[in-house]
Amino acid sequence: MNMRPAVFLDRDGVLTVEESYVCLAEQLKIFPYAKECIEEIHRWGYYAIVITNQSGIARGLFPEEELQKMNQMLMQQTSVDAVYYCPHHPEGKVKKYAVTCNCRKPQTGLLKKACQDFQIDLTHSFMVGDRAGDILAGIEMGIKTVLLESGYGSQRLEQNVQPHYRLEDLKAFVELLGEQGYKGDCH
Ligand SMILES: [Zn+2]
Repeated sequence: MNMRPAVFLDRDGVLTVEESYVCLAEQLKIFPYAKECIEEIHRWGYYAIVITNQSGIARGLFPEEELQKMNQMLMQQTSVDAVYYCPHHPEGKVKKYAVTCNCRKPQTGLLKKACQDFQIDLTHSFMVGDRAGDILAGIEMGIKTVLLESGYGSQRLEQNVQPHYRLEDLKAFVELLGEQGYKGDCH
């Protein structure tokens, strides 16, 4: 059994420019440094797994197929290992997705799903995001949490949460990983 820790990453404001809703794959603006950062995360021996709330689907702003296109782009352009998304919202307009689910952050359904699909060492894992829901989900999973200022950040925090780290952006996080000196199985 080859366990590796994971860096769970929110998408908007972490890997891509935060916009209220990105509805078309062509509109997805991946940060220029994202690819290099994911490569560095891999080099340190971590999985890089995206965990994203995409309630625009439930709200009828874009179809699930369009999001899948975005996910393909993200995987190709940054080499993240997987993208898990929640398409739901209890007040959504599209009936199929207008449900109370267990996967919309701060809930942990997507993180738990990733743990079933990958052999993840949670004791060394991180949740990196720009909103309270990301931090709360990470705390619930018992992993280290990182709030980035490159999206919503601390100025627009929806509630008072206490992340383990507050950093400027994903580049700063990758530096932190290096300083922590955790050496996983890098091969
Ligand atoms: Zn959901």
